[in-house]
Amino acid sequence: MTSLLRDLPSVEQLLQTPRLADLMTRYGRPLTLDALRLSLDETRDAARAGLSSLPSRDQLTARAESILAEWTRPTLQPVINATGVILHTNLGRAPLSRAAAEALTSAALGYSNLEFDLPSGKRGSRTVHAEAILQKLTGAESALVVNNNASAVLLILSALAKGKHVVISRTQLVEIGGSFRVPDVMKQSGAKLAEVGATNKVHLRDYKEALSDGAAMVLRAHRSNFKIVGFTEEPELAKIANLAHEFSVPFVDDLGSGALLDTVKYGLGHEPTVQESLAAGADLVCFSGDKLLGGPQAGIIVGRKDLLDRIKKHPLARAVRADKLCLAALTATLLHYLQDEAPREIPVWRMMSMSPRTAKVRAEAWREKLGQGEVVASESTVGGGSLPDESMPTFVLSLSVKHPDKFLKTLRSQNPPIIARTENDKILFDPRTVLEEQDPSLLSTLYSLLSGVP
Ligand SMILES: *Cc1c(COP(=O)(O)O)cnc(C)c1O
Repeated sequence: MTSLLRDLPSVEQLLQTPRLADLMTRYGRPLTLDALRLSLDETRDAARAGLSSLPSRDQLTARAESILAEWTRPTLQPVINATGVILHTNLGRAPLSRAAAEALTSAALGYSNLEFDLPSGKRGSRTVHAEAILQKLTGAESALVVNNNASAVLLILSALAKGKHVVISRTQLVEIGGSFRVPDVMKQSGAKLAEVGATNKVHLRDYKEALSDGAAMVLRAHRSNFKIVGFTEEPELAKIANLAHEFSVPFVDDLGSGALLDTVKYGLGHEPTVQESLAAGADLVCFSGDKLLGGPQAGIIVGRKDLLDRIKKHPLARAVRADKLCLAALTATLLHYLQDEAPREIPVWRMMSMSPRTAKVRAEAWREKLGQGEVVASESTVGGGSLPDESMPTFVLSLSVKHPDKFLKTLRSQNPPIIARTENDKILFDPRTVLEEQDPSLLSTLYSLLSGVP
């Protein structure tokens, strides 16, 4: 063993090769040296464990190269979403529109008037950037963008209801994926939960009782990810809002997804819109930027100016503020709505409006190129805490493989990784959520996997 190791080249010897010079230009000297040392250490360990012959210099260098590739690969990488779940929370929810991505890039690459008032040359406020468009789109008096909707809810409660009772129906004590629970957020904000009604039913008189006992706010949380059916009842939003106003307390609506367009036009169920909540009398409405809005991660609050002015002054507002990249991408996304081009320009709406026929044509083109599989009818879903239980008819490419779970794993290890789903041991690829520019990459990967070509 020791005699074997005597022939192991030193780091200095390995450094003389042109291939290493190349690695050093690419990865920098310190990291390349670290990788080389690790490659040599591994060989020493293997020799002690009984390795019979040493790897060649080329092999040692190749190992260092793959270590370097591993160390520098970003952990956050693009994937191909072939699941048919449009707002896949684990896959980053909404892909941005081209315009939103460009706005983000130009804000990222240079300086901007983020907090600078150009006419006066004085300090400005970042809250102005998306506010005007949000007012125009929703008719609200004022608006604020924060980090995400969870922080929007936390901020509203902290600023307006700390130490006070907030009425919420037991039908709405929801948990949204990733440990956002309405009762927990309330607790965190210092507000006190005044739950009313039963799990399936709540009446206006339940709200009235709690308000008579001195509650300071009424909160509605949208049941984003589940439905209650059967013996159920809930007063209309406008009636709850009116009642809150009779008691001079604000009515706050946590909409979750916050659609600005009517999902019914896309053959789906009705997802409440921001405009409807405001029209029903909600004093504040909050929603996510990266669900049905189709923009970057953000929490958006729209509504009464006096309330928003108090919210903007709360110390937590600073802690959860939106950054310039978010504001740039969000503004560009909102512009699509203002210019009446959202269904065409915003990827999530484009995906929702894809007809089954279009999906079929694409799935058939995939099958043709691969020379195998079947095109079968299936269902896509919106996901991301919107429209629970709703699906859209689609067509998918269905592949039969020997070991479905193993194949799914192999798909995930590709570059870019491909995320598909299985049904009855078949692997399904839904064209609805695969961006068109990803088609060549998807097909060439599948082709080589299926034909056994590495
Ligand atoms: C999704 C959702 C949230 C959390 O929103 P994030 O933007 O993910 O923080 C809060 N409330 C409701 C009702 C939701 O659906």
